[in-house]
Amino acid sequence: MRTLLPYSYYGADTDEQQQFYSELRPVAIISQSVGLLSWITAAVILASSGQTLHASLLFGVPGMLLSLGISLRARSVRALVVSGIVGTTATAFAFRLLVAYCPDPTFWVLPVGTVLTLSAAPIFGGMLNYIGAATTVWLILTVGNFPAHPGELTFNLSLLVMGSSFAMAIYLHAYFLKLRIRSHRARRELAEMAYKDLLTGLNNRRKFTLEARRAQSHASDAPLFFLMIDIDDFKKINDTLGHDAGDEVLVRTAEVIARLGTGHLCGRLGGEEFGVLYHGEAAQALDFAVALLDGVRRATHPPRTVSIGIAEFDRNADLSVSYKRADEALYLAKRHGKNRYVLSNTTKAAA
Ligand code: GH3
Ligand code: MG
Ligand code: MG
Repeated sequence: MRTLLPYSYYGADTDEQQQFYSELRPVAIISQSVGLLSWITAAVILASSGQTLHASLLFGVPGMLLSLGISLRARSVRALVVSGIVGTTATAFAFRLLVAYCPDPTFWVLPVGTVLTLSAAPIFGGMLNYIGAATTVWLILTVGNFPAHPGELTFNLSLLVMGSSFAMAIYLHAYFLKLRIRSHRARRELAEMAYKDLLTGLNNRRKFTLEARRAQSHASDAPLFFLMIDIDDFKKINDTLGHDAGDEVLVRTAEVIARLGTGHLCGRLGGEEFGVLYHGEAAQALDFAVALLDGVRRATHPPRTVSIGIAEFDRNADLSVSYKRADEALYLAKRHGKNRYVLSNTTKAAA
């Protein structure tokens, strides 16, 4: 409750806002339409029972129509919150005017207030907004219109009904808000898991390939280089020191790649193989490769080495073409003694 109280739907991150918006909008439209229809039906029933209804009765209607209009046109959670506040208070006001034509107006205060506040509870935007709107609804309905006078038994019982329905409405609101936040976090975690390598925290192969394809689809002349990085003699580390020691080397290597490759697309392509899509000229890409070779040696104890195959990223050919070129360069780096990089289409191997 303490964490939910200051929570407001529109205070959350954009992704969360988008989800709340798409969930709240249809419910806001439906509940406001039901409120308006119920009011019209009640007015018709009163008129058909012989009541002469005064035009001032219509004062509450523009507010109800306005809130419905805002919900229909809303493009953000903030707009839905505004429509919720306008809608609940206008509906309370419209019903307050309407029940004045009933034979026993004060009788309707509790049922109308309870239905209004409870039905808005699960869908309202933000705890403080909701408490404010529900309090306003009860004030509109009860001031000068309470079912009994202080000291009477009915007065105390009515207070009890009002208090418990208010408490229940706040609980419902908190509960639904919590469910909404939880479902959003769960969805986000699942999405992250689908695209993240769980051991190293880098992008997994699927995400790396997806982003590399996206880079291809952007029309640009800026040079791009694809680096394929493979840990040397990794099987030996596993075989002699165990799988956990191997994992540790993977994590350290990934940390170096992520740190030095900030701003570039990095990922674990599988096993002990990583990829980087480097934005820059050939000379910069080679400097980057040297920094990686050095960085991994420094970050591992005893020092471990990697070999790197580098190929200019071909935006116009299928992704597999650049992968293959980098892989061939990597093969050459291994053949020339490992712990080095090779740039594709050159015979030069540099330590
Ligand atoms: P090279 O120097 O030629 O690259 O040889 P290498 O031993 O590094 O390469 P090889 O392909 O023979 O072995 C890779 C090993 O990586 C085999 C596999 O068991 C291991 N491996 C793959 N994924 C993981 C992992 O997530 N954790 C650990 N600890 N080992 C892994
Ligand atoms: Mg290897
Ligand atoms: Mg390998």
